Amino acid sequence: MRLVVLGSAAGGGFPQWNCRCPVCSLAWDGDPRVRRRTQTSVAVSADGERWALVNAAPEILSQIQAVPALHPRGSGRHTPVASVLLTNADIDHVAGLLSLREAQPFSLHATPAIHDVIGANGVFDVLARGIVDRLPVAPGAPFPLVDGVAAEIFPVPGKIALYLERGEVETAVEGEQTVGVELRDGRRRILFIPGCALMTDALRARIDGADAVLFDGTVWRDDEMIAAGVGAKTGRRMGHMAMSGADGSMAAFEGLRVGRKVYLHINNTNPVLIDGSPERRAAERAGWEIAEDGMEIGTEWSLQDDRIALPAGT
Ligand SMILES: [Zn+2]
Repeated sequence: MRLVVLGSAAGGGFPQWNCRCPVCSLAWDGDPRVRRRTQTSVAVSADGERWALVNAAPEILSQIQAVPALHPRGSGRHTPVASVLLTNADIDHVAGLLSLREAQPFSLHATPAIHDVIGANGVFDVLARGIVDRLPVAPGAPFPLVDGVAAEIFPVPGKIALYLERGEVETAVEGEQTVGVELRDGRRRILFIPGCALMTDALRARIDGADAVLFDGTVWRDDEMIAAGVGAKTGRRMGHMAMSGADGSMAAFEGLRVGRKVYLHINNTNPVLIDGSPERRAAERAGWEIAEDGMEIGTEWSLQDDRIALPAGT
């Protein structure tokens, strides 16, 4: 299985178009310790020929342009992208669908709750029904995502998309609004969890033994955006657990066996984006990698070589 990180930033990207927080300022000023990042999408393939996208960031066009494996082949209309899976209805995960029009058939997988959000918004009808198959998926039921790769979604504590919020918002609900994805090719197991409000026992059990986990790296500290003077919300209020602290994700992963631990969906205020920063070094000491656009997770690494059964039809 090959997995390419097409985009590794949280909503807003890095640097964000209207931000001069301390970390964005380094990027605007050309400091070599930071590199630009687009919003989070990944591509996965078993054979390098047929690919699935997990989430469609607003920059999906430039992300596809940047990765030769995703370029059209032959002559006329073609794409190696056979399917798209959505983990929630956040703008930074669905807006890229609008760039995948042009009468190109593919399969669009999402929970019924996420399909409802997209179905209720006529602008997404540019993905004409009859050309793009909108397929419902259910937690706990593995399905063929793309040739040789099975996917299974699972609930992750989180919240609904910001633009759907009404009144008091529950920020750590487990349901179909925010899900993680387990990807399997019969040998490897990769987990993609770009948003997570809270570590639960069920989540720990699923993560333990994975070959790689790509995990919510939105904020280093819960009050980071407030401290940077660019927002009033804590990470928790946005549905994201911090990396650091006693209740942070680095602590939550202690004792879990994971082949590669990779933070992605990194907010532009997060100092782990800076090479050599104390926060980056602390994350690295705890065994974490910080994702960058174009990073590839290949097949040379593994925690286990036990073969994992694929569902029929994969
Ligand atoms: Zn910023």
